[in-house]
Amino acid sequence: MTLIDNADAPGKLFPSDTGNINAVEPSPQASNSRPFGSRRLRDGHTVQFQWFYTIVFVILHLLAALAIMPVFFRWSAVAVFLAMCWVTGAWGVTLCYHRLLTHRSFATYKWVEYLLTFFACLSWQGGPLKWVGTHRLHHAQSDMPGDPHSPRDGFCWSHVFWILHSSRPNEDPMALTKDLQKDPVMLFYDRFWYVPQFVAAGVLFALGWLLAGGMMAGFAWVLWGICLRTVLMYHATWFVNSAAHTWGYRNFDTRDDSRNNWWVALMSFGEGWHNNHHAQQRSAAHGMRWFEFDITYWTILLMQFIGLAWKVVSPKRPEAKLAAP
Ligand SMILES: [Zn+2]
Ligand SMILES: [Zn+2]
Repeated sequence: MTLIDNADAPGKLFPSDTGNINAVEPSPQASNSRPFGSRRLRDGHTVQFQWFYTIVFVILHLLAALAIMPVFFRWSAVAVFLAMCWVTGAWGVTLCYHRLLTHRSFATYKWVEYLLTFFACLSWQGGPLKWVGTHRLHHAQSDMPGDPHSPRDGFCWSHVFWILHSSRPNEDPMALTKDLQKDPVMLFYDRFWYVPQFVAAGVLFALGWLLAGGMMAGFAWVLWGICLRTVLMYHATWFVNSAAHTWGYRNFDTRDDSRNNWWVALMSFGEGWHNNHHAQQRSAAHGMRWFEFDITYWTILLMQFIGLAWKVVSPKRPEAKLAAP
């Protein structure tokens, strides 16, 4: 499978895998007979509301709110929170799931890839195959019918509601992950992706209790390091799908609605330069102008400097194409 930059032909990223996404006009009779909680999308497909993920997300948000109550405030818990944001958000989701596994923007040792995938599983955004397949589907169908999370189906849909519904009947992200399916370790991670978070919670509780002054400190470390961190990193990732396809400026005239959004870039470790990314999907750098701060690219360059990364895909810099923000 060849990954190519394709600003001019986004639908051709995985031509053989995505030909089954068909646009169908919805009929008025069908929309009247929809079951409770279902939703009809632009392409005519109906998806079902899923209570399980909704309940999980509600509980996580309530626990995140509990974390910021004064009784659970500890500076040590804040430090744990920041460290866990960095390890799971910057190294896990952004560096590993997105730039390494989805787009192969650089190459590294297998043991580094497996370690980073472990960190990514701690984000509770699903296993590597599902995450990568869904994101490749997004690139193949960006903002067209068949995109799993386009704001053209509604801002809230692109932010979170798409996760709270079943997939379209003809949507098969796994078909876009044949490269990863050859690796038994990735298959293992994809089967048990939710386990490391429980292990991390146990470890943080024990360490907080032992190192920070008792049982309440243990709870504080879990609330900050697991619950609040997971929720904030959720929204950082989700804003790339919603805000960075809605608000911001464009350097490149891509066929989708992608935007460069500075505050999304700040909270998602460089992912908010999303129009640049849609234009040059394999580029390890998403920030392409001097003010487009992309700490994940710096991380990749540092890894290259110390010998942990190679075949780093450089951005093409067609300065003439860059428009003023
Ligand atoms: Zn996008
Ligand atoms: Zn991407």
